[in-house]
Amino acid sequence: LPKEHSLIIEAHELLAKFYHHLLMNTNEGARALDYLLKRGFTKESIQKFKVGYSLPEWDFAVKFLENRGFTHDLMEKAGLLSIREKDGSYFDRFRDRLMFPLHDSKGRIVAFSARALTEENQPKYLNTPETVLFNKSSLLYNYYNARAHIRRQGNVVLFEGFADVISADSAEVKNCVAVMGTALTEKHIQLLNRLTNSVTLCFDSDSAGAEAAYRSGQMLANYGIEINVVILPDKLDPDDYIRKYGPEKFREHVIGNAQTWMAYKLHYFRKGKNLQNEGEKLWFIEKALVEIGKLENAVERELYLRQLSDEFSLSLEALVEQQSQMNVTREKKQQKNIDQKNINQQNIPQP
Ligand code: ATP
Ligand code: MN
Ligand code: MN
Ligand code: MN
Repeated sequence: LPKEHSLIIEAHELLAKFYHHLLMNTNEGARALDYLLKRGFTKESIQKFKVGYSLPEWDFAVKFLENRGFTHDLMEKAGLLSIREKDGSYFDRFRDRLMFPLHDSKGRIVAFSARALTEENQPKYLNTPETVLFNKSSLLYNYYNARAHIRRQGNVVLFEGFADVISADSAEVKNCVAVMGTALTEKHIQLLNRLTNSVTLCFDSDSAGAEAAYRSGQMLANYGIEINVVILPDKLDPDDYIRKYGPEKFREHVIGNAQTWMAYKLHYFRKGKNLQNEGEKLWFIEKALVEIGKLENAVERELYLRQLSDEFSLSLEALVEQQSQMNVTREKKQQKNIDQKNINQQNIPQP
């Protein structure tokens, strides 16, 4: 490990420890602790996830790290400082915020995500910028803690935010991680794929969450990963849901009743559609037939075809016929593309 990397980690470990101390044991941190407890975080989970509080001062971290021999250059490379444009002087990046340490896959603190305590203080979350050790597209929150649970249970629950992870963890759902408010990436999937081939998506139940679940599911499906999707009611996110309905209900009725990927896709295509309308109904049936046609398991295919047949009072024969016609059309299109390519190639002038 290059010297610089281990110093960046050391700076984060020291700061995280101090931020945690400020939150738990000082008057300055009382307001932040109160916020967390009112939200329903327990002291145990605050300790386990080493949540902290950064003071409103402009140069707390700068001084704290100076006193311990760290250079400004290193602090800047660590993403802990901002620079004043007018004179190039430094100030703390994180002030008056809840501090959530971010661990890499080896369990070392490499960054922070910092939450504002009030609506006025924007943005809601402020992250460490990209550094040599931190890239939010390749970090999953709680990966290090959860890995043994994920292996043992053969499944991972994937959330959007870390408040969701912390709540789920105290609701005894330990096999969970979160993306850092970004889209799921290939790198994330590789991290998960090392541990399991079964992913349960549990995103916020707003339209952004539904879109993210669909896109993430498509990516995971390309890796041959088994996907289940949790659909939460009433625009809640998992953290809200646990507060409102309690841990048991979350475990048993929510995680335990996650939809299959196929069922989720059908749910997703239906959304915002008026299936009384002929055109929209036909569109939905076609979409559904394409997806059902991709299923490898014949029994499963028949199961979903029967559901369609029941719902729209169509004969199974008609659905199967339509499906094979769509296959023929698709093959024709593919053949046409190949022919066109050949023609294009023939047209290339020879030297
Ligand atoms: P809370 O419950 O504290 O409001 P949340 O996790 O429900 O937080 P969301 O708005 O659902 O927050 O966003 C999900 C995740 O996206 C957050 O946990 C955070 O990692 C990330 N995120 C949200 N807003 C921002 C932002 N302004 N800048 C950077 N990341 C953000
Ligand atoms: Mn959200
Ligand atoms: Mn949320
Ligand atoms: Mn939330």
